[in-house]
Amino acid sequence: MRPQILYPLFTDVGSLPGIGQKTARSITKLAGPRLVDLLWHLPTGLVDRRTIASVASIRQGGLVTLVVTVDSHLPGSGRRPYRVRCHDDSGGLDLVYFHGKTDWLSRTLPIGERRVVSGRADRFQEMVQMVHPDHIAPVEELEQVASVEPQYPLTAGLTPRTLRRTIEAALAAAPPLPEWIDAGLLKVRGWPDWQTAIRQAHQPQDAVDLEASTPARARLAYDELLANQTALAVVRNAWRRRPGRPINGDGRLTEPVRSALPFALTGAQSTALAEIRGDMASAFRMLRLLQGDVGSGKTVVALLAMLSAVEAGAQAVLLAPTEILARQHFATITRLLEPVPVRVDILTGRDKGRGRAEILKRIAEGETALAVGTHALLQEDVAFRDLAFAVIDEQHRFGVDQRLAISAKGPAVDILVMTATPIPRTLQLTAYGDMDVSRLMEKPPGRRPVDTRTVSLDRLDDVLAAVGRKLSEGAKIFWVCPLVDESEDLDLATARERHEVLRQHFGDRVGLVHGRMKAGERDAAIAAFARDEGDLAGQRVDILVATTVIEVGVDVPAANVLIVEHAERFGLAQLHQLRGRIGRGTADSVCILLYQPPLGDVARARLQTLRQTEDGFAIAEEDLRLRGAGEVLGTRQSGLPKLRLADLAQHAELIAAARDDALLALSRDPDLAQDRGKALRVLLYLFERDAAVRYLRSG
Ligand code: ADP
Ligand code: MG
Repeated sequence: MRPQILYPLFTDVGSLPGIGQKTARSITKLAGPRLVDLLWHLPTGLVDRRTIASVASIRQGGLVTLVVTVDSHLPGSGRRPYRVRCHDDSGGLDLVYFHGKTDWLSRTLPIGERRVVSGRADRFQEMVQMVHPDHIAPVEELEQVASVEPQYPLTAGLTPRTLRRTIEAALAAAPPLPEWIDAGLLKVRGWPDWQTAIRQAHQPQDAVDLEASTPARARLAYDELLANQTALAVVRNAWRRRPGRPINGDGRLTEPVRSALPFALTGAQSTALAEIRGDMASAFRMLRLLQGDVGSGKTVVALLAMLSAVEAGAQAVLLAPTEILARQHFATITRLLEPVPVRVDILTGRDKGRGRAEILKRIAEGETALAVGTHALLQEDVAFRDLAFAVIDEQHRFGVDQRLAISAKGPAVDILVMTATPIPRTLQLTAYGDMDVSRLMEKPPGRRPVDTRTVSLDRLDDVLAAVGRKLSEGAKIFWVCPLVDESEDLDLATARERHEVLRQHFGDRVGLVHGRMKAGERDAAIAAFARDEGDLAGQRVDILVATTVIEVGVDVPAANVLIVEHAERFGLAQLHQLRGRIGRGTADSVCILLYQPPLGDVARARLQTLRQTEDGFAIAEEDLRLRGAGEVLGTRQSGLPKLRLADLAQHAELIAAARDDALLALSRDPDLAQDRGKALRVLLYLFERDAAVRYLRSG
């Protein structure tokens, strides 16, 4: 249960007086639906209105606050703006309004009255004027107006003033909270308490107050990192503390499957498998990360581990982040399991009604030994007879909540998380805390290097000619369209356009796949490309135009050419993932990165890196160097929790501190039951890491 002290912060913005539905919607879009979301929406700039000027002193344009007396109103007409003529002791000033509303203006600026006005004033020869003042107020409010105003990122339909007022209301609702930071640390760092910090962060007085290193901002960032690390540590502790269940396979399934593989496991795969089996056999609850580059062979390792659980008479599950990936895993696993009688079922959001009910029945009765699927497997009515082992693929799409949900489906579920994101250590801490890690550093043998080239979009005609030659040699070609912006519609439009152009050149052999397709259509498009015989009507598809939906793990071993349009718009990690789609088969592979000249320095360095190496870890390090953590983490592939206050580039040093602090606090008070522990619980709720609280023994 959320602590009562936080209730005010978790009320809806719409419940504030004076906030209508429309404004509430805009605010929700910008920051989030509740007051607490507004607290995390920190200013990115400030407007300094402290200069109180006289009209005569205004030379060049600038932001000023003035006290003036209103002389007359000159209503506008046609293109002429409405003018309100004013003066102070030193000279005359016009307030200028385009499309000014007469009655509002005469009410706000009555003739003969004195008013504070603030805004940008400009001088044209002898005329001083202020177009659309930001503020008009009675003289008594001079002090409030002549101050420093925080400036916030905005969205359409929201004025700066409305947003500021709403944030002020959120600040007013922010109570003093019990201190969760270690007293010694607080003192050494010179950080304010939480309530002071959140207020200071929203009330910058100077540009330096906007920097990430100010005590207020550093503290808030630390709070967020501490919440994150505490949640991870709680989960891990709980895991370690729960009775595990020694699972020992006898090899009767794994051995036939392993010996039927058309290859031998690499050393790295064998080591990882041994580590996983060691965890499974122990009395501890396993929580392990299997990290390995795209194509490093994680799936086989995971499958053999799952089979050990089946050998021990239990069930295993594989959770994938997307429908496409789930289907692919299902297909791979079904194929690899041919030598043994093991029932695999797949469950995704697509399964409905009777079909779904039958699958659920098989899972519940234990007839299904291996279940593969998406989030659909986490639904409450999915029950296992005896689930012992869960593999979560590409875990960044899942969170602690999902781990919790899946672990609740068995008496002692061991968990293996697979990720293809090679992230450096500090960043890894943020995503996973101190998890045990197995790494697949070496790639399977026989993997042919990909010939990567960069080509200017000016030479598109040459590329099309080359594509024609490749097609006649039997190539299978992925053509990835650019990210246009955050809008899927625009991404789609460019993909459609490219599809059309390619069809004009190469006819019906060009297929299209994009994120807006229904899952079934998408699978069919990919399957048609993957099959040599083409689609159901027998139409061969040799070029597949795709938006970035293919980046996460689509496996078409025959694909040997990848063309990425506007490669300069993609992140390094993303390009690396995309390139992982080819070079899986026996044919020579080529990756063409089409770029729009002129290239900036960073884009050039990025493309250069890709030409030089295929090592995911080297690429990740280079990415970090070129762009800084913030951006690496910003990419869709990053695998990190969304942080609203901490900036991993700027606050990197705080991560390890937060980790140590969390571990220490939990070692002293494992159930967060003492004073500081209770404060840490408040912190977990404040940052909505409360899934972790359910792991604690009391309350
Ligand atoms: P990941 O999941 O790590 O991206 P996969 O498990 O999908 O990688 O493996 C990629 C490809 O490499 C698959 O086609 C798989 O059959 C193959 N593969 C896996 N292990 C080996 C190995 N030891 N030797 C040769 N090929 C392998
Ligand atoms: Mg895979």
